Amino acid sequence: MIHPHTELKPINPVIGFGVFATASIPRGTIIWTPDPLDRVLTRAELAVLPRALAFDLERYCWQRKDGRFVLAWDLARFVNHSCAPNCLTTEYGFEVVTRDIAVGEEITNDYADLGMQAHERFDCCCGEPDCRKVIVASDSDRFRRYWNAEAKAAMEEIPMVDQLLEQVLTQDVLQSLGMLERAVA
Ligand SMILES: [Zn+2]
Repeated sequence: MIHPHTELKPINPVIGFGVFATASIPRGTIIWTPDPLDRVLTRAELAVLPRALAFDLERYCWQRKDGRFVLAWDLARFVNHSCAPNCLTTEYGFEVVTRDIAVGEEITNDYADLGMQAHERFDCCCGEPDCRKVIVASDSDRFRRYWNAEAKAAMEEIPMVDQLLEQVLTQDVLQSLGMLERAVA
């Protein structure tokens, strides 16, 4: 489930839609966490779905570290890539805001951080000064250490900010956050 202070807005015909903040969302906010309505599919399950679904599945699914594919049921599937994203994945399965997001600012991920398939690549026009231009799965090898450090630093803020998705978090994640709180204290 994506943070409730978000809305879907059209950007342009090339990019399509994006997800934007309807209120300021501080660093350390859990912006997305898995919930029971998301579909989680194995590669074998994907393979037997009707071919008419292929385009949407290719466009909107991402691959978890365990190899399964996730199709978010809500706005989360419309979050766009940026080479300077304001949200990153964490080892606990949720995504965290890594720098303060202003009202009206677009919510972004780095798709290579989300888990691209080895064959996937796409041209990027995010407009960031450090745009990589072509995004490939192996970007994860180059940036993983940096992303993990950024996410870990942002997670230290988790106990200090309102977490509107707290009631959606799983027991495992809550337990992990409890451990985090003790570490911060
Ligand atoms: Zn870019």
